[in-house]
Amino acid sequence: MKSVYEQNGIRPVINASGRMTALGVSTIAKETAEYMFSAASNYVVIDELLDKAGELISPFTGAEDTCVTPNTSAAICLSIAAIMTGKDMAKIERIPDTTGMKNEVIIQKGHCVDYGAPITQIIRTAGAKPVEVGFSNKTNAYSIEGAINENTACLLYVKSHHCVQKGMVSLEDMIKIAHDHNLPIVVDASAEEDLRKYIAMGADVVCYSGAKAIEGPTSGMATGKKEIISAMKLHYKGFGRVMKIGKENMMGLVKAVEIYSNRDEEAHAKMNEEKVDSLIEALKDVNNIKVSKVFDEAGRKICRCSVTILPESGKTAKEVVKELEGGSPAIYTRNHYVNLGTINFDPRPMIDGDVEKIALRLKEILG
Ligand SMILES: *Cc1c(COP(=O)(O)O)cnc(C)c1O
Repeated sequence: MKSVYEQNGIRPVINASGRMTALGVSTIAKETAEYMFSAASNYVVIDELLDKAGELISPFTGAEDTCVTPNTSAAICLSIAAIMTGKDMAKIERIPDTTGMKNEVIIQKGHCVDYGAPITQIIRTAGAKPVEVGFSNKTNAYSIEGAINENTACLLYVKSHHCVQKGMVSLEDMIKIAHDHNLPIVVDASAEEDLRKYIAMGADVVCYSGAKAIEGPTSGMATGKKEIISAMKLHYKGFGRVMKIGKENMMGLVKAVEIYSNRDEEAHAKMNEEKVDSLIEALKDVNNIKVSKVFDEAGRKICRCSVTILPESGKTAKEVVKELEGGSPAIYTRNHYVNLGTINFDPRPMIDGDVEKIALRLKEILG
């Protein structure tokens, strides 16, 4: 059956790239879709649902409570707002005017990333002031401590491949500095796979995407200390209204977290490896390429299909990528090594039938 995109003349996409917002992030399980349909087809008291969703998700993160949000950005923004206002409704109704509130958010310069939007702008959206500490390639712990003053609201740590990986103050040390000064620390763990690790380390709030690793609907969550999470929920009666999530996505996230947390990781990794093996097999008679199976650089249990375009093809890897993206279906790949002549295919976002379509298209392009 044709997808609703194809039915409406929208170019279909094969995602062999990763959890990219620009491609729709991930696809949901049928069970999640069924949950969402039931949620969307019935009424509910939203405040009760918001609390219940937190109750259902928190056992999977180990935190005291969880606030569901429309995405990670909202989780970061609302948690910072909650830290600044507490549960004071007068202050909540004033955000983003933070006059008289502690409103500085300390972040390492190497963490000031643009993940598709600048994280410093997300901080400012709450009325907070990002205080960038250190240098693009190095931050010292004493610089973090030196930036703390009576206006400091919290520290923010970004755990991501987008960040500078060398020379930064570690999360362990940031947590210690924050707590030595009686300040909370928020962790942006948007695309991270471990839902428990940062809470277990002592972070006060951890923000996740519901659609990246968790493979739920467009959604997000902040999980952490009850005091901050309850204040966050109150912000939905203020500026948080511009970040409304809705009943069906709340329940979709609840189901997706449950499915994700109960997943057999070994079997999941094996299924992805089988996809890579079948792609390697399907690429056997494509000319002028060298195909191999490579394992994740960051040591995760992920393998990918690596295709090196040989000079005999008369095409560079960059040109091949352009042709893959320009066709219908558009095929998006992982291009970290494209300058070195290699294109990677990530099996995780690939769905049934993609292997054959990718092989066919590469045969057209390369002969
Ligand atoms: C993707 C990403 C975000 C944004 O997530 P959304 O759910 O799209 O708002 C924030 N931080 C990091 C590190 C990310 O990778």
